[in-house]
Parts: sequence; C-alpha cells; structure tokens
Amino acid sequence: MLEKILEFFRNLFSGLTGGSSKPKPTPVTEPTKPKPEDTLPPAEPTFPQDAPELDRDTASTVVVVSEDEPVVLQPGDDPAEVITPPPSTETAEEPPVVVEPEVDPDPVIEPPKHKQRYMWCLDNGHGKKTAGKRSPKFEDGKQFFEYEFNRDIVKRIINQLEVIGVEYFNVVPEVDIDNFLEGRVGRANRLESDLPKIFLSIHANAFGRSGWEPPSGIETWYFHTSRTGRAIAGVFQKHLMSKLNWNNRKLKSFPGKRQFYVLRNTSMPAVLTENGFYTNKEECRLLMKDSIRQKIADAHVEAILEIEKNGI
Ligand SMILES: [Zn+2]
Repeated sequence: MLEKILEFFRNLFSGLTGGSSKPKPTPVTEPTKPKPEDTLPPAEPTFPQDAPELDRDTASTVVVVSEDEPVVLQPGDDPAEVITPPPSTETAEEPPVVVEPEVDPDPVIEPPKHKQRYMWCLDNGHGKKTAGKRSPKFEDGKQFFEYEFNRDIVKRIINQLEVIGVEYFNVVPEVDIDNFLEGRVGRANRLESDLPKIFLSIHANAFGRSGWEPPSGIETWYFHTSRTGRAIAGVFQKHLMSKLNWNNRKLKSFPGKRQFYVLRNTSMPAVLTENGFYTNKEECRLLMKDSIRQKIADAHVEAILEIEKNGI
C-alpha cells in the first residue's frame, strides 16, 4: 500500500517540470497550480543525480564519445533542444551615434562591452544535506565535501562572468539544503529570459562506497538525444582537458530512460561536468587546492566564452 502511495506521488510530480521534448512518464493528473518547490516530495529515487550513483549494469550501457568528434546539428530533429541566438539588436535604421570630441586629457578606456548571447543557469549539484558526496578521511582528519567544492567552483565562475558581463542565473544559492532536484530544475525551467537558456551542472566524481579507489579523470555528460547538449559538452570537456590535462574520460550519455535527473527534466540544453574523483587520494588532494579549483573554474569560463562568441 505504501509503495502504491509513493508511486502515485512519483507520477503526480514527475510532470511538473515539463516543457521539453524529452521522454517523460505520463502524469496521473495535472496539479491545478504549481506547488511551492520547497514542499515537493523527495527526488525520484530511480533517477541518478550524478555519475557516482550509476550502478554497474547501467554504467556498462553508457555511450562514450570523444569531445573532438564533430556534431552535426540538425535543428529540425530536436526542436526543444536547439537554441537559436536572439536576433541582433543592431538595426540598419538606427541613426549614427554622434561622438563628442574627447576633452579629457587622460581618458579611462572602457573595455568593449560583452554581447550577451545565452542565459547560463549555473547549478551547484548538491546541498549540504545531500547524503554521501564526501571523500574518505585523510590521515589528518581532513575530508572533501562535494557540495562545498561545487559551490566554490560556481562562485569562482560567477565572479568572472560578472566582470565580463555574461548573463547567468545562480540556480541554488542556498547551502543548507538537501537533494532538491525538482527545485533546481523547476527554478531553471521557470526562469524568464530573453536569451536562450543553457543549464550547466558542476560536480566532482566518486567511485565505490568507501575507501580510496583508483579511478580518476574528467568527464562531461549530456542528454543522449540532444545534439546541442553533446556539442556544448564537447566544448567544456575540451577546455577542461587543455587546462588540467588529467585523465580524459570523454563525453558520456545514456541511451536509455535512466538519465540524470537534471539532464532529463530541464527544458533547455543541459550538461553536467564531473571534475575529477574525490575518491582518488591524489586527485582529491588536488581538488582541495585553491590553484586547481581556479583552473577548473577558468576552464568552464573559457568554454562559456567560446559558446558565447561562436554560438552552438
Ligand atoms: Zn555530484
């Protein structure tokens, strides 16, 4: 009976974050109005939130592609996933700007203003209350917490985007929060923006359930049917590889239904970066270093700027 009730709620709320062409279970009934996100039930347990939550059977079906394999975008095949840059605001009818002669003998030269192209929804992956998501303890008792790392990287990215003038949305600025998967996705989906939105979820990876383990490196995930997502993922993986030169675990996706919650339920192109393993002792030490964190953030900013410049 309890399972039936849980199933009912799962079905009821699985339709809340709609708006994309991604496959979704049919909701039993539509709620008359969206519920406040904080009252939503816990995340659907069958959908993993990041790579460590994959079971071995699922992991064997993962599709791996290289970030330098070209992606041929075919907008007609995938309409909800293809983002079109907004029309240029420069029109031929605009009168020419009259520039007054500069009289200041020592003028301050303003850097050229960044032309905003996309709205970057930056997701920090987990909250402080998300279970697990921490490294084994080092001999001195120190430990790596993924929520803290993810937030620090997002903060470092935001600091640079602010200066450059790239449009962004910090999806979950709160720290003291649990899985909150529906909340993350709902906030990004509901965000009104004149610019096309891109969802970027930032994580560190893990292997096994306890103790230090050998797997290491960086991988970027995208929604399997989304060519746009794959193209975006390729840009991020490329910059992460050139900045860090760690083990290249390439681009990954699931061909099946059991895709990451945030990739599956977002109504915009979405990617998830897994920036090294905190269950690998050496890599974990690096992930705790300020200079490495800055490199990881810089690589993300470089990827964002490449996509801002060239479109996707
Ligand atoms: Zn994670």
